[in-house]
Amino acid sequence: MESLGVLLTFPMNAYLESELARRCKLFRLWETPPERRQEFIRSNAAAIRAIVGNSHAGADADTIDALPKLEIVSSFSVGLDKVDLDKCRERGIRVTNTPDVLTEDVADLAIGLTIALLRRICVTDRFVRSGAWATQGDYRLTTRFNGKTIGIIGLGRIGMSVAKRAEAFGCPISYYSRSEKPNTGYKYYSNLLDLASNCHVLIVACPLTDETRHIVNRDVLDALGPKGVLVNIGRGPHVDEPELVAALREGRLGGAALDVYEHEPHVPEELFGMDNVVLVPHIGSATNETRDAMADLVLQNLEAHVMNKPLLTPVV
Ligand code: NAP
Repeated sequence: MESLGVLLTFPMNAYLESELARRCKLFRLWETPPERRQEFIRSNAAAIRAIVGNSHAGADADTIDALPKLEIVSSFSVGLDKVDLDKCRERGIRVTNTPDVLTEDVADLAIGLTIALLRRICVTDRFVRSGAWATQGDYRLTTRFNGKTIGIIGLGRIGMSVAKRAEAFGCPISYYSRSEKPNTGYKYYSNLLDLASNCHVLIVACPLTDETRHIVNRDVLDALGPKGVLVNIGRGPHVDEPELVAALREGRLGGAALDVYEHEPHVPEELFGMDNVVLVPHIGSATNETRDAMADLVLQNLEAHVMNKPLLTPVV
């Protein structure tokens, strides 16, 4: 792969970066100040045949247009909302992602967030650390997780893994997708408002597309209601964030646990003081084991491309 010029958009993983540097000709985009990046890309365009991006910085239309020799975008993520897929199709540029290897970790986090929210694990941790237990007495009662009805938006790889875990907690599962998954035994709703009205915990696990941007809007939040909670392990823009903040502030929604946000790394400050909110910084796939496996998949896809072999996880 020594001849392959690879543009790495973001310092996403030390192992991936060192392997790319060892095996290819690596261009590190973030080392150039933002105002000079276009110039950096222009001056190296003749050598760049691949882009490795992630969920923060992928391959937008301008970057693709500036790279006439681009052959492949290999994303260090399963979600491809930061890659202009139409443009890639138009130009015959191949696109790969990292499905499956991260599924179990993201599903673990979805369950962890739900339990942390309902049982107030983060709040009670702070209660103990602050010394409040000794001065104020026992913490008030919380809400049970086992047996709660789980509604999943997007019953794909991650959605199914969340469902399997929740089943083990005795939770009835229902879901909303564009198509019914007949062999799952889970209850299908063809209307998201109906799903939200009929579940306690609504978990977002679909890809971010034009159709799913703000799929969780004011109506969905109100359908979920003061006894319902929202868990988002999909992408931030799935949720209309100002509406979410308003619903929590006004007590129209029972709580929220979020891994992803509309404008990462910025999180609405109003959420910081709310006890019925759990906030983590987009860590769904962020374990050593999974990130190594994702890196290997990126490298294997690039290698297959260079050797003219079938790509391991092609999307385009
Ligand atoms: P997947 O296997 O492709 O599953 C996606 C599911 O979403 C499919 O079942 C699909 O079913 C459904 N879907 C697609 N469009 C929809 C729509 N318009 N309305 C409702 N449902 C829709 O993908 P995955 O591997 O489970 O990953 C899902 C997403 O999780 C990724 O795209 C990524 O954005 C996110 N993710 C987040 C993290 C994190 O760190 N928080 C990590 C990994 C992934 P139908 O075709 O029947 O609609």
